[in-house]
Amino acid sequence: MLNIVLFGPPGAGKGTQSEKLIEKYKIDHISTGDLFRKHLGEGTDLGKLAQKFMDEGRLVPDEVVIGMVDEKIKDSKEARGFIFDGFPRTVAQAKALDELLEMKELVISGMISLEVPEEELKNRIKERGKTSGRSDDQDESKINTRIKVYLEETLPVASYYESQGKLTKIQGVGSIDEIFTSICEVIDSY
Ligand code: AMP
Repeated sequence: MLNIVLFGPPGAGKGTQSEKLIEKYKIDHISTGDLFRKHLGEGTDLGKLAQKFMDEGRLVPDEVVIGMVDEKIKDSKEARGFIFDGFPRTVAQAKALDELLEMKELVISGMISLEVPEEELKNRIKERGKTSGRSDDQDESKINTRIKVYLEETLPVASYYESQGKLTKIQGVGSIDEIFTSICEVIDSY
């Protein structure tokens, strides 16, 4: 079973590449950002809880995120594998994911990190904000907070997988198809 962590800062292209990867490899997509937005749209308690953190560009507490992912994995009994997108975002989430998978005798195949310079990220997020309808994509200070949170809280997750020999960095600048080809080469080597 293929279990991939697609990693990178906000605006790195994780969502775009995930769409193409799930089609090629026929695996399930778990995007915690998308799941939270769905809860928000449906007005669930979980959505209400997450909203204030999302509005500020801060991380939703680990236990909330982990519970939601646990449920999603349990619901996906037929899955041939998973792409985790925007998760894990803290080392505690990464450890919890290892434990959740271990209970199913599964492991993370590898982490692919999309490397994109900060200025490019900010431009991409602002561009996306014109059509995404996401308030966190439209406000300069929220964008800056999200990048700061990534550098301080999320980047250590890359070291967590690197210490397990599972990290591959990919140049995240170029055409969507070029980047996709580089990602597929890594996945096909697993
Ligand atoms: P994203 O769509 O991945 O950019 O996520 C949008 C927002 O949802 C983030 O800024 C966080 O507030 C929240 N979020 C998404 N995934 C996580 C996660 N794994 N841990 C904590 N908060 C998250």
